[in-house]
Amino acid sequence: LTPEEALGLDRFNVDEGNPHILLDKARCASCPDRPCLWACPARLYRLKDGEVQFDCAGCLECGTCRVVCTHGGLVSWSHPGATFGVTFRCS
Ligand code: SF4
Repeated sequence: LTPEEALGLDRFNVDEGNPHILLDKARCASCPDRPCLWACPARLYRLKDGEVQFDCAGCLECGTCRVVCTHGGLVSWSHPGATFGVTFRCS
């Protein structure tokens, strides 16, 4: 399997009303480097019309964005509640 094929096997149960990652869009707008755009292995951070966009669906809960965000844009990171989040699958 390629990494993309392996990721495609995973399943996600998104807690729509309680996102486990919250951003401060004003801080993201003034971030000079925006490392989240290239560091997230699931490519969940995207730039649209100059603004950082994020969607929890597809999050691998790896914590990389929590580590690389040094400008205060990521204001909250926690694991999703019970029964929510990623389920890793091998086949
Ligand atoms: Fe991406 Fe990992 Fe952050 Fe989820 S925890 S948004 S997969 S970098």
